[in-house]
Amino acid sequence: MSNWIKKIAAQNAQIEAYLDKHKGRSIRVDIYHDDWCRHKRGKTCNCNPDITFTDCGPSTPESCKEAADMMDAIEKDERERRLSENNNRRNA
Ligand SMILES: [Zn+2]
Repeated sequence: MSNWIKKIAAQNAQIEAYLDKHKGRSIRVDIYHDDWCRHKRGKTCNCNPDITFTDCGPSTPESCKEAADMMDAIEKDERERRLSENNNRRNA
């Protein structure tokens, strides 16, 4: 799994508390990868990225769509990870 997803998962409780405090707001999530991170070469993140949350004002239909797209990307990444794990097991 991408390190940045692992990092977000590990901070789940804090993130939920943050989102609770910012209900109805649009939150921008920035993920800053190290220069040597494989993510910068189109591969899975292997650094310890800095993740920041910024309040961008009231939620709009566009910001909600962006958030949904991001969740789709996370789910897709997770599905691909599971697939590749299964393939590795089969080839072992
Ligand atoms: Zn990274």
